[in-house]
Amino acid sequence: MEKIVVRFAPSPTGFLHIGGARTALFNYLFARHHSGMFRLRIEDTDKNRSRQEFTDQILSAMAWLGLKPDGEIIFQSERTEYYRDAVEKLLATGKAYRCFCTREEIEARRGTDPGWKYDRKCASLSEDEINENINAGKSFVVRLKIPETVVQFKDMVRGDMRFDSKEFEDFIIVRSDGSPIYHLTVVADDYDMGITHVIRGDDHLSNTPKQIFLYRALGIPAPEFAHIPLILGPDKKRLSKRHGATSVEEYRRMGFLPEALTNFIALLGWNPGDDREIMGMEELVREFSIERISGNAAVFDFEKALWLNSRYIAALPDNELVDIFIELYRNKGVNIEMSERIIRIANLLRPRVKTTVELWDAGVFFFKQPQAYDEKGVRKHFSPENTVKILEADADLIQSCEPFIEKELETRLRAMAEREGEKAARFIHPLRLALTGSTASPGIFETIVLIGRDECVRRIENAVRFIQTKKGRE
Ligand code: GLU
Repeated sequence: MEKIVVRFAPSPTGFLHIGGARTALFNYLFARHHSGMFRLRIEDTDKNRSRQEFTDQILSAMAWLGLKPDGEIIFQSERTEYYRDAVEKLLATGKAYRCFCTREEIEARRGTDPGWKYDRKCASLSEDEINENINAGKSFVVRLKIPETVVQFKDMVRGDMRFDSKEFEDFIIVRSDGSPIYHLTVVADDYDMGITHVIRGDDHLSNTPKQIFLYRALGIPAPEFAHIPLILGPDKKRLSKRHGATSVEEYRRMGFLPEALTNFIALLGWNPGDDREIMGMEELVREFSIERISGNAAVFDFEKALWLNSRYIAALPDNELVDIFIELYRNKGVNIEMSERIIRIANLLRPRVKTTVELWDAGVFFFKQPQAYDEKGVRKHFSPENTVKILEADADLIQSCEPFIEKELETRLRAMAEREGEKAARFIHPLRLALTGSTASPGIFETIVLIGRDECVRRIENAVRFIQTKKGRE
């Protein structure tokens, strides 16, 4: 079998978003599955809209997702000469022609007919007429001469496609400023790069017949095509900013793991043929096939993305989790080092978060005393008459507990509650609020140990002061 070569061909006019990432991923998986090549081509011919920062961003988002391209990256902006050669060839063989009609002339001939197509006025200009126009400094575009024909191809996702050339006019392939248009650059490059399969978004389906006309005019074979269906938001409208985060970068910043995001994106319009949902890159490569891409639009489900992410967080090896944890905290100004304690804290928080960023809110109290107390919690747990006494008893217990381990803390606290004829919860709720500022936390005894004896006592003293001041004000 011939070697499979595919490409991802983004225009650097914006961030890489979910749709683009999916196109890249499907190409990548297809290439890897068949031991083929996954090429990257930056389509930066539109000088006004293309930006280096977007190219950089696309490259870093792809690297983050693990989509490493093979071979050199091709930049269309560096290939002007090559496109010119292709156009010269088309002009020389009479497959394309220069058109000197001005916009006004065309508008006048079009009139109000919405179905009007370019009338080929310039298709039959003689060599002399062409030279005369050029010498007179008239500007021109180049149009492709579309033969009367029917274009048929079998799209690997959409099935049999048929387009009648009557529906098309002799479309422009070079603008009056000499710049080639997208259809020409894509066809020239796909051929030159040896692309065997073009896997891209459905929005390009209507471009394909035009590109096939070009392949034929250039006398070169067309690749196979697979057009993947749109991604819709939960409201069944095309996925857009309105639906929330759409760029890969945003997901990265929100605390998604790259493996979780690739897994999620892979399932947008593709499935392994059974109900597997958690699939790492290796498994995706092994299972991927174009036949399993659905012809229906995929619906984006953010909750599912979160769920997958939480599963990947749950499965992260300790050292990776801790690295992420330490980096997150350092970025927020809390300098911590790898230690047994950090490993325990990170593991304690792991099942409680859906994104890595949540590790901050969920765990900052281990390193900083609470800046405020949850209001509802204050009403419920700090307000009863004997709360101060209870907290002081907690502090004494923590102060004197030996060994300072969870089990011992628990036994002693429960015994104390029993002696006082109270429920253990009565000693635990205000304590949790005093230590964490919140009414929810990991198990209280483990939390006490991980905050540390002296720090716990300090925080209880602070809470007592807070309660007394509050009482004083009332
Ligand atoms: N540059 C085009 C885009 O970003 C893709 C062209 C193609 O895949 O053929 O939409």
